[in-house]
Amino acid sequence: MKVDRNRDAEVRNRDQGDAGVDAAQDVHHSDDPRDFGWVHENVPCQSACPAGTDIPAYILAILQGKRGLSYEINREANVLPGVLGRICSRPCEDQCRHGWPGNGEPVSICHLKRAAADLKDIGHRLNESLYGPSGKRVAIVGSGPAGIAAAHDLSLMGHDVTLFEREKQAGGMLMYGIPEFRLPRDILREEIHNALRLGVDLKTGVSIGNGKGETPLSELRNNYDAVLLATGCMAATDLPLRDALKGGSVDEITNIEYGFDFLLDLHRGLEKKVGKRVAVVGAGFTALDCARVARRLGAEDVTIHLRTTEEYIPVTKDEILEAKREDVALLGLRTPVGIHSTKDGRLKSVEFVQNRLGGWRENGRRKAIAIEASEFEFDCDTLLVAIGQKTAHDFLDDKLTFDRWGNASINENGMTSLVGVFAAGDYVKGASTVIEAVGQGREIAKGIDTWLVGKPRYKQVVRIEKVTEPLRERSFDFIARCHMPTAEIEGRSASLGLEVENGFDEDLSHQEAKRCYLCNLKYNIDVDNCIYCRACIEVAPKNCIKMVEGIKINQDGTYGDLQETTEWDHVGAIWIDNNECIRCGACYNVCPTNCISITRNQLVQREF
Ligand SMILES: Cc1cc2nc3c(=O)[nH]c(=O)nc-3n(C[C@H](O)[C@H](O)[C@H](O)COP(=O)(O)OP(=O)(O)OC[C@H]3O[C@@H](n4cnc5c(N)ncnc54)[C@H](O)[C@@H]3O)c2cc1C
Ligand code: SF4
Ligand code: SF4
Ligand code: SF4
Repeated sequence: MKVDRNRDAEVRNRDQGDAGVDAAQDVHHSDDPRDFGWVHENVPCQSACPAGTDIPAYILAILQGKRGLSYEINREANVLPGVLGRICSRPCEDQCRHGWPGNGEPVSICHLKRAAADLKDIGHRLNESLYGPSGKRVAIVGSGPAGIAAAHDLSLMGHDVTLFEREKQAGGMLMYGIPEFRLPRDILREEIHNALRLGVDLKTGVSIGNGKGETPLSELRNNYDAVLLATGCMAATDLPLRDALKGGSVDEITNIEYGFDFLLDLHRGLEKKVGKRVAVVGAGFTALDCARVARRLGAEDVTIHLRTTEEYIPVTKDEILEAKREDVALLGLRTPVGIHSTKDGRLKSVEFVQNRLGGWRENGRRKAIAIEASEFEFDCDTLLVAIGQKTAHDFLDDKLTFDRWGNASINENGMTSLVGVFAAGDYVKGASTVIEAVGQGREIAKGIDTWLVGKPRYKQVVRIEKVTEPLRERSFDFIARCHMPTAEIEGRSASLGLEVENGFDEDLSHQEAKRCYLCNLKYNIDVDNCIYCRACIEVAPKNCIKMVEGIKINQDGTYGDLQETTEWDHVGAIWIDNNECIRCGACYNVCPTNCISITRNQLVQREF
């Protein structure tokens, strides 16, 4: 939670003053829709982050060598920076201005997050309790990222929080789904500990449900003022085969397993075995993890079978690259339609139908269209089915309203159809991502707080701060994206726990931080002092400074299209198009009348 308390502001101003940020009197806060609109439009990485992480602020801190501060800034938005710096799905990088046409490759935002966590100075600050005890009790079911983020924030708000987890350890899919070679457990445990240490009562090994030895949900509803369901997507999606007549069904044939259960069992400590030829069906994180685990368990031939092609699968490019380097083959354009078994009931082959690419889906991916009479068999001795996860509801003892995908429906505060029962994370969104779960966990925590105390206690404003120098150089724009150093391929199969990505060191993180345009810097020309000398236009690296007749104002008060002109007698102003601007500072440095100013614009939460 990013709360703009005076003490925080002081610390920030002290820390950043030497880098061109003026003292506190040059800071003001705005709730003008134009300022909100500016940040949303101009800081695309932050707008794309479901937790609203202040990305340019934490990258600037790395640039200044303040990795502890960078970690703190990250942690204000997301309580698990060291975790997400490793495994985030990175929606921010897809939107990064540096990746826009003509600008090169996106900034390695995620690797920088990890660098801040790995290289932070000893004694970094943690958020402290904001409010005194409210006397309200909140029960949270499920200690995945959504439950942890909500528990952390609710305890900061002064509520008495108990977190119930059915497994032996907290962490949800971070602990039981994602393999250790992507996410070391000591990092995970440390960040969970720090998130919960403000007084959250964690009760592991406690299952909420209706079975023997379980605690019924009604008991929590009776004993707590609010209950949050953060129970994730705990059931594997069934494999829809055309029929079972090809030789057997998933349940009858040995050596077929749901990839989700396979990973859960592995991380619960069970011994898992695979054959020599492992086929994985599916296209998400679970499928890739199953394949890479199978390789480490000794499989010689590991294939992943996709309905479309690898360009359209919802994992990061790095995951695909590393899987391929580990000799996992991704085979596209096929859908499983049947399974063939040997006489003794063992898996012999999977029957696929060949697909071709169809039109686009709403989610930006492609449809797969089966080609008639194109079935073929693929021999394998182990099949891991990883085509998705869905919510499980067997723990409920009262009726809840679901959407058409079987996910919990909630109102704007996060409350389900049961009064006082809220929901967050994959249980609401369906199988999603860690950063979505963290972002929603925090949002719903605010909704619970509002409901418990009877009014909202936070509002968002734009913090606008005068900056007296560009904070970066034009030469930084030509630095190529830094690549993540990784473990040698040969050594990887020796251990399931050997982390594949080694992280950026100080030099690499500093070099990569230089690449960030710091998009929250707003360049502005004071038209009253501009002498129309065009020096800025001539030095500009892009079509970023324009002669305009006027600017449209949108209905919500934000700036709309620029009415450009080349006719001097029509020029009403020389205007910086902050959308085109790459914050190189060239115009600022060249202007003879100092009429170009820079401000830093950040979204912050303030207490009412
Ligand atoms: C193998 C795998 C790899 C993934 N890799 C990535 C990745 O690289 N990047 C990414 O962004 N996302 C990844 N994801 C998705 C991501 O892990 C989830 O979106 C995220 O964990 C959802 O968080 P959550 O808190 O909603 O639920 P979960 O993390 O699923 O946690 C739910 C918790 O609730 C507990 N629980 C459920 N029912 C009960 C009950 N009745 N009583 C008590 N406790 C209960 C469960 O035991 C579990 O601990 C991956 C998922 C899997 C399965
Ligand atoms: S250049 Fe930096 S601030 Fe701009 S979108 Fe990319 S990461 Fe964000
Ligand atoms: S800082 Fe000035 S010159 Fe540089 S890209 Fe932005 S508007 Fe153009
Ligand atoms: S350099 Fe300064 S004075 Fe000259 S046109 Fe640009 S903003 Fe105006």
